Amino acid sequence: MPGTSLTQPTVRTVTTLADGRQLIYYDSGAACAGACDGGAACEGGTAARRDAVDERPLDPQAPGSEVRLDPATGDWVTIAAHRQARTYQPPPEECPLCPSRDGRHSEIPAADYQVAVFENRFPSLAGPPAEPVRAAEGLWTSGPGAGRCEVVCFTADHEASFADLTPERARLVLDAWTDRTAELSALPGVRQVYCFENRGAEIGVTLAHPHGQIYALPFTAPRTARMAARAAEHRATAGRNLFDDLLAAERAHGERVVLAGTHWTAFVPFAARWPYEVHLYPHRRVPDLTALDADQRDEFPTLYLELLRRFDRLFGTGRTPYISAWHQAPAGQRDELALHLELFTIRRTADKLKYLAGVESGMDAFVNDVTPEHAARRLREATA
Ligand SMILES: [Zn+2]
Repeated sequence: MPGTSLTQPTVRTVTTLADGRQLIYYDSGAACAGACDGGAACEGGTAARRDAVDERPLDPQAPGSEVRLDPATGDWVTIAAHRQARTYQPPPEECPLCPSRDGRHSEIPAADYQVAVFENRFPSLAGPPAEPVRAAEGLWTSGPGAGRCEVVCFTADHEASFADLTPERARLVLDAWTDRTAELSALPGVRQVYCFENRGAEIGVTLAHPHGQIYALPFTAPRTARMAARAAEHRATAGRNLFDDLLAAERAHGERVVLAGTHWTAFVPFAARWPYEVHLYPHRRVPDLTALDADQRDEFPTLYLELLRRFDRLFGTGRTPYISAWHQAPAGQRDELALHLELFTIRRTADKLKYLAGVESGMDAFVNDVTPEHAARRLREATA
């Protein structure tokens, strides 16, 4: 894949769905060796054939969302009223993310796949950019909800979860995230590419099939904007990079470190907001996924899978609901912001969830019921 540091033989096949949306298959060439039929979609003689046609009668969507700047906080808000009609928790036999089999047509026409990425049929953001306009009153700035929303299917297995994947498959997902980051970052008007996974009905997941999402945002996310401001302050006062200092301090202190490899360290942050929250940083700071080197890419899957499995062991309730969020530097802010992953659960005990109520939702002021040091100890001990 040109322009990215993907390790061959990951093979990418770009196709189009019936309503014009893009669908991209990612196949591990090594896993397909010998099974190749040499079809038109085959690149380099290693991939499975990916030329199944979407036979559904689909009309193109006209999303038409809007972004508005909150004049009081400076935060961008996306207004996407058209999404109210989207698919909500369908039964497994109607899952739109399973392969198309037995005469049933899903979002993925192939009878099987490894990793597949497609444009969301009900996107919060879509279409070409335009300069935000300020209303005559001067306070109200808005623009089209430009950008792109994609769905990443981690496996064809409806019953699996990310934690069940092999390191090889997790690596293929990392390659897909990286490729999408490179391509979406290059789209006109895209400020930041955000790859994330919501897991569990408790989080509000509308489809049970293991999948994540990617938002190509036309603005810098509010949390990223605050981090950029903090990093600039730290550079001005300390003369160093904030994230380099933060990671070094956590590694030296050690009490909140959960897992450490040669190239990555996972720790519960000093001021964690969520009952169980882990931040995973590469030791060598990079702005985004496209800048990871081969050693970092090779080590990530095993560490990340171990973190997810430890989350699942925390409460004796099986699969722990979580949000997994890749923080990547926005355009023009690649010098100070550090790629890292923030993984957290809203579960605080086997039968209690953390809700964002008056203090959090009303004031953005979090109250955490679990000390970060206790959370780190429990996650260190949650081995198989
Ligand atoms: Zn499914």
